[in-house]
Amino acid sequence: MLAQQPGFYQSLIARGVGDAFDRHVFACILAKGASEFPRPLAAAVGLPAPELARLLAAWFPGIDGLAPVGEPGPDAIEEADLRRLLMDHATCPGSDAARWLAAMVARRSLEPDHLWQDLGLSSRADLSGLLRRHFGPLAEKNTRDMKWKKFFYRQMCLDEGIRVCKSPVCDGCTDFSLCFGPED
Ligand code: SF4
Repeated sequence: MLAQQPGFYQSLIARGVGDAFDRHVFACILAKGASEFPRPLAAAVGLPAPELARLLAAWFPGIDGLAPVGEPGPDAIEEADLRRLLMDHATCPGSDAARWLAAMVARRSLEPDHLWQDLGLSSRADLSGLLRRHFGPLAEKNTRDMKWKKFFYRQMCLDEGIRVCKSPVCDGCTDFSLCFGPED
């Protein structure tokens, strides 16, 4: 039942291997998901049990005693499109890490806070770092540092030719403050 205990992040980090930043990111997301118990971990992070097992084996091979992770449950209506947007812009499209992170980011984007908070990261800088590292071609398009959730949804709408904005340009738009500005 380790995942239900406080300090799960530290337990993961202590048993983790590999690149320090990616290990930190995965540990943050898993700890955030685990904090939502009794919601199944698979549902909280958007990964089915076999994929979660592969992630844990790859990054946290010493971890054991996890509670049953359950099932991810059905996608929200826009979730597959967001996963696709991310993977279409993956820095390394064949990488497991990118695929896992695309699923996790898409699932956590459904939560109500700023995305870095929904992912359990330490700061917005962590989120920007993970997006630049794993989804570089997408992150590069956010040239004005738009809030990340807003940016994803605007990109999906642009890709579909859907006009959801009140204004054709951001400058002067009455929703400017909703799309730009600090995320803290
Ligand atoms: S500021 Fe206005 S035009 Fe720009 S993305 Fe937001 S809603 Fe759309």
